[in-house]
Amino acid sequence: MKIIQDFTKDELGEIIKPSFRAKQIYQWIFKKYVDSFDNMKNIPKDLKEELNKNFTMNPLKIVKVEESCDGSKKYLFITGDGVTVESVLLPMKKERVDEDGKILKEAKFTVCISSQVGCKIGCTFCLTAKGGFTRNLTPGEIVAQVLEIKKDNGIPENKRLNIVYMGMGEPLDNLDNVVKSVRIFNDIDGLAIGTRRQTISTSGVSSQIQKLGKLNLGVLLAISLHAVDDKLREELMPINKAYNIDSVITAVKNFPIDQRKKVLFEYLVMKDLNDDVKSAKKLVSLLHGIKAKVNLIYFNPYPNSPYQRPDEKTMFKFKEYLNNHGVICTIRASKGLDISAACGQLKEKGL
Ligand code: SAH
Ligand code: SF4
Repeated sequence: MKIIQDFTKDELGEIIKPSFRAKQIYQWIFKKYVDSFDNMKNIPKDLKEELNKNFTMNPLKIVKVEESCDGSKKYLFITGDGVTVESVLLPMKKERVDEDGKILKEAKFTVCISSQVGCKIGCTFCLTAKGGFTRNLTPGEIVAQVLEIKKDNGIPENKRLNIVYMGMGEPLDNLDNVVKSVRIFNDIDGLAIGTRRQTISTSGVSSQIQKLGKLNLGVLLAISLHAVDDKLREELMPINKAYNIDSVITAVKNFPIDQRKKVLFEYLVMKDLNDDVKSAKKLVSLLHGIKAKVNLIYFNPYPNSPYQRPDEKTMFKFKEYLNNHGVICTIRASKGLDISAACGQLKEKGL
């Protein structure tokens, strides 16, 4: 059985004749949210039978949903072969209605998705790393996370949302499938999520950043930097032995990015480790010449985690230093990612 969402519309058009059927099937799946081929009304009976025989359109099932007080929702999905992955729906702006119930401002959403089951990179602060690596997700399994979340929340098909590849796994370790998922998301007959609404977060696999850049997809890049000197970064992120900070910065400088957009640098702040002003100073000099935005993240402790959450005052001081030295910096506002979503945490809790 093949997963139908693993195929781009063009690929489907090669397999299914006449090829305009691919467009219709895409629309049934991604816009009309049908859950079986039998419900695709304008598809002829013999084609439906063929589809039923060869394809599944439900690669993921929801096994658990956890809602946190700020409205973010964490999903645990199970795949066809019985492994689990996490995604998070983050409401970025709440819907505003007037007294008559008229919508003044529409709600905005971001979906945080996984690209692998587990991760090979092995960062010491990350819970996903603890479970080791199981396998790559297929393009269809990546795309289905967003589709299922839209369905489950009754989010209309034409509602624009943003995607961040910040769930479990290292997206650039699964580059081919991730690139394909970017293209499938982007399809106008599919979820129609423009590439400028998609952010790929990486631990800094420089060679793969270069490869991604050459494809010129228009996606945004986020770098999990977390440390400003190689010694500490190596301790936290073993990938730094193969690709040090300099190589990551060079790869970023060569990455094609829309003039209106910036490269996001994520900086996970751990108490007494990387939270001092000296680090902030070094960060400013590292980012010199890059259109960057820094996102400070509170380390989110879990049972037996080796690091601690920094206090608010230190966090604020770090942020102010950057802001005062010409670097745009925010403290990650979305509590969803803070409180428990730091991905891997729902999976670790078990079913
Ligand atoms: N592998 C990619 C994308 C997924 S990780 C990457 O590392 O960029 C998504 C983000 O969650 C990373 O920035 C990571 O540093 C962060 N994260 C991991 N463990 C965390 C924790 N315990 N608390 C807060 N953020 C964490
Ligand atoms: Fe993998 Fe990212 Fe976790 Fe590091 S932080 S182990 S790269 S998922």
